[in-house]
Amino acid sequence: MSEKTVAAISTAPGEGGIAVIRISGDTAIDVADKCFKSFSGKTLSTLKGYTALYGQVFFENTVIDDAVALVFLAPKSFTGENTVEISVHGGRLVALEALRVVLNCGAALAENGEFTKRAFLNGKLDLASAESIMEIISAKNETALKISRNAKNGRISKEIGKIIDKLLELAASFSVYSDYPDEEIENLNPETFKNTLSEIKATLKRLLDTYDTGKVIREGIDCSIVGKPNVGKSSLMNILCKTDRSIVTDVAGTTRDIVESTVLLDGITLILSDTAGIHKTEDIVEKAGVDRSIKRLKNSSLVIAVFDISRPFDNDDLSLIDELPVNAIIVLNKNDLTCAADLSVFKDKKTVMFSAKENSGIKELSKMITDTVKSGSISENDAVLISERQRNCANRAYLSICEAENAMNIGVTLDAVGVCIDDCLAALLELTGKRVTNEVTDEVFKRFCVGK
Ligand code: GDP
Repeated sequence: MSEKTVAAISTAPGEGGIAVIRISGDTAIDVADKCFKSFSGKTLSTLKGYTALYGQVFFENTVIDDAVALVFLAPKSFTGENTVEISVHGGRLVALEALRVVLNCGAALAENGEFTKRAFLNGKLDLASAESIMEIISAKNETALKISRNAKNGRISKEIGKIIDKLLELAASFSVYSDYPDEEIENLNPETFKNTLSEIKATLKRLLDTYDTGKVIREGIDCSIVGKPNVGKSSLMNILCKTDRSIVTDVAGTTRDIVESTVLLDGITLILSDTAGIHKTEDIVEKAGVDRSIKRLKNSSLVIAVFDISRPFDNDDLSLIDELPVNAIIVLNKNDLTCAADLSVFKDKKTVMFSAKENSGIKELSKMITDTVKSGSISENDAVLISERQRNCANRAYLSICEAENAMNIGVTLDAVGVCIDDCLAALLELTGKRVTNEVTDEVFKRFCVGK
């Protein structure tokens, strides 16, 4: 347990129904008793855990606010320490005054993520679960929330635990095999060792692959809509947004700059940008817009290129096709009109027939977008790596296993292979926080907000 009792406002800043001041540490209840008086006359130190008193927060003889104080006794609290949560009215000033009183009564101000850090240090949750709490708080869509919730409930650690068990078993088999190399013991031979290594390698690779897809699900993917002027980019953007965020007009070159909008499509957050029409132009202002569109096209993770098929393609269309990345989605718009374009120029690119006017092709387009984004598909129940730190650890573990496999293949002694396995284990134990330095722990919790 930590010697210092800390406190912070745990609710979001701003106005709300209530604000909660959380106090945690050995002396949390004494601190709270000094600044909280119940209407019943009972003190907090006489309470069982999970019970509350109604009363007032006061400083000297001044009442700060009516309040409810809820007591949690160690180890049955979020932090694993004695904790009191004082709920006052949800105004910024009243919460700040109540916090000041608590600090005056002997608590220190909690640092960023200090409550969760204490929960981790007191064995209430592992590091991967602790990291997921910030993801739960910031989840922007339901899939991201489910993935973070699973991580909080130990999904990542469980998956890593299985790999660790396999590695430990393998290391033990190595030592038995080294001690009795001439005995024929079932499953103890270089061939089975190699198979186990390749199984572990495949599992780690799958886990590593979840990071990028998970990131897209959590943070969204930047997607630009590009095309010549007047092909229907803004109309498409409007359909995707189901709003009138972009200006739709039949005067070429209206969208001179980039219009951004965030939309949710089948659980994927798309950060859409409708760009200025890409074409050769002498107009200086328009040219600046075109240059920005080309830059955006090159930097976007996903490109939707719109073409008007009611007219034959010209040089502007053809040079745009040359600029497109391989995974670009081609929207063949104005399909309600007679097709006058040669569609064979797209060869094996992903195309979808579309009419913004008639709102047709949107289902196919949505599916194409989600399929492209979720190409390394993950399900909500999978273990998904949710931080760069976790990805780094998993990657180190993966590289160590590759090294172990190579060493086995070229016939290096099992001792040397064992060193690679130890490195792999160390990386995985760091991932879950079972063996981690203070610096790494501090780095993780620094990213949390105060009060969490
Ligand atoms: P942008 O310059 O590429 O953003 O094009 P807009 O979305 O502003 O559309 C240009 C013109 O094409 C407008 O008059 C739209 O009404 C029209 N338009 C857009 N999509 C379609 C479509 O699918 N069919 C037809 N017939 N007209 C369309």
